[in-house]
Amino acid sequence: MTRLKDKLKARIAAEGPISVAQYMSACLADPEYGYYQTRDPFGVKGDFITAPDISQMFGELIGASCLTAFEGLDAAQPFQLAELGPGRGTLMADLLRTATLRPAFLEAARLNLVETSERLRSVQKKTLKNAPLAPEFRNTFEEVPDGPLILFANEFFDALPIHQFVKTPDGWRERQVGLDTAGELVFGAGAAKLPAGAVPPDFENCPAGTIIETQPAANAIAAAIGARLATHGGVALFIDYGYVRTAPGDTLQALYKHTYDDVLAHPGEADLTAHVNFEALAAAAVGAGARTCPPLTQGDFLLRLGLLERAGALGAGKSAREQDAIRDVVERLAAPEQMGGLFKVLAITGPRDRIAPFDTPG
Ligand code: SAH
Repeated sequence: MTRLKDKLKARIAAEGPISVAQYMSACLADPEYGYYQTRDPFGVKGDFITAPDISQMFGELIGASCLTAFEGLDAAQPFQLAELGPGRGTLMADLLRTATLRPAFLEAARLNLVETSERLRSVQKKTLKNAPLAPEFRNTFEEVPDGPLILFANEFFDALPIHQFVKTPDGWRERQVGLDTAGELVFGAGAAKLPAGAVPPDFENCPAGTIIETQPAANAIAAAIGARLATHGGVALFIDYGYVRTAPGDTLQALYKHTYDDVLAHPGEADLTAHVNFEALAAAAVGAGARTCPPLTQGDFLLRLGLLERAGALGAGKSAREQDAIRDVVERLAAPEQMGGLFKVLAITGPRDRIAPFDTPG
């Protein structure tokens, strides 16, 4: 039994069932017991390992990509360099090391870390102690000052609350978390039928039992970034586990000590994520005036940026064992059946901006 579970049970007993979005936000961000508020969840001892933890090459290649975007900006003008949800700050540290190759980039950059967890802010500060730029912390993207923008986010959008809807024989209802007769947390369908138009039209004719998801919190951030890029120029890269075409399905999942867990079992102690709908993110950004390039798989993105060449350079002159380790890392990051195929990279650009290795925006 977790302390957040007790708190949620008391809340539901007093106020009634809560939406999946409310459950997800409580699990991840409850000020007392929220997952990101109470721990550093990364690495072998934590619940999951992210790409920047797997290899320095990940941040270095994103740095190389950002340098190509900088070529299109006015080098004499400052720009806002921003990361959403930097975790331990590893990606940004690796990126800034690559950026030292282009001193004009570092001179023009103002560094913004959008992070809500105080605990992780202090980890990020420590990681970036010797970095060439000092970070300003922001609570939301809106707090990042106006101006040209180079922004990226790795495994950020999958931590934002989603809503789920379930098709019942008499229409769509919001999926909720309530209490069963034994007082345990249980999923159910809300009493109120959804008003017409609340469910995207692609889903209208799904059979009973179908679950669909919407991500208004993620889409609102994509729209705000799109509007900024439309006005001030620049680029944004969103890297996440997700799908490129809207489709039905329940993607909410819990990860507890590197193992999949029942979503309701360890609120606040397990990581809770949902797959990201890239089609919806792109539509939100385009609706705000930005352009998007067709998404790449993480594997294609890294290979086109020169992952193999970088791995070769890192391995040169090293022992056979070290070279094996580098090959292993390349596999994990880029193989289609591993992160390389599961993760996608979406690029959003201002009207005149470009970023390698993406094809020209459509
Ligand atoms: N990008 C990192 C960490 C991903 S985990 C990596 O690749 O390793 C998600 C990160 O987003 C954490 O730093 C978490 O504290 C932060 N976060 C989660 N929800 C947030 C929100 N609503 N606003 C800002 N940061 C958030």
